[in-house]
Amino acid sequence: MKIILLGPQGAGKGTQAQRIARKAGAKHISTGDIVRAEIGSGSELGRKVQEYNDRGELVPDEIIVEMAKPYLNDADSWILDGFPRNEAQAKALDAALEQLGVRLDAAVALEAPDEALVKRLSGRRQSESTGNIYHIEYDPPPEDGDDPGPFVQRKDDAEGAIRRRLEIYHEQTEPLKDYYARRGLLATVDAEQSIPEVTDDILAAVGDNV
Ligand code: AMP
Repeated sequence: MKIILLGPQGAGKGTQAQRIARKAGAKHISTGDIVRAEIGSGSELGRKVQEYNDRGELVPDEIIVEMAKPYLNDADSWILDGFPRNEAQAKALDAALEQLGVRLDAAVALEAPDEALVKRLSGRRQSESTGNIYHIEYDPPPEDGDDPGPFVQRKDDAEGAIRRRLEIYHEQTEPLKDYYARRGLLATVDAEQSIPEVTDDILAAVGDNV
């Protein structure tokens, strides 16, 4: 299985990619995670990409493509989360896959209205000790000490950065739906459903390739 998950921030790409990866035995490749790990390492590259990350801007294409490429050849089955984000990246991905002799099975787009996304993202908190993700309203951190926290907000989940990320999504990433639809690879899924329902729809859409 080789699939791309498209969708705006807050649609649940990370959650769904993790669930699908577990069910289908595929590798979850998240360029956002790769970027955050590089920032966490304190490397020179990490310092460079941090400026973009914190403002909610895209890391330049040539940098992110080089960061993502090594992972594509790393597993027989993968699910790409957060990449490609624009047409230049989609073309770079096509070229990289052709070089590897690999065929893409599907691009699944998760869809939800902006207001729902802003609400989800602005309430999102991550535990610094466990990495677990919570939502202050929908899925509050446990109060019994099971997860000691502290529970922090991602810099790019601040309201201004959220709006900027959604703007970039509509301008640059959403047109990729057409890009993949033209090749008969696109499936769309309603991301406002419950987490298991969204997973079921994604699995149904990529059915034969799991
Ligand atoms: P995400 O967790 O997918 O929202 O990614 C967090 C941040 O990492 C983004 O706001 C960008 O700064 C950077 N990033 C992740 N994936 C990409 C990509 N495909 N192209 C450019 N920047 C990216």
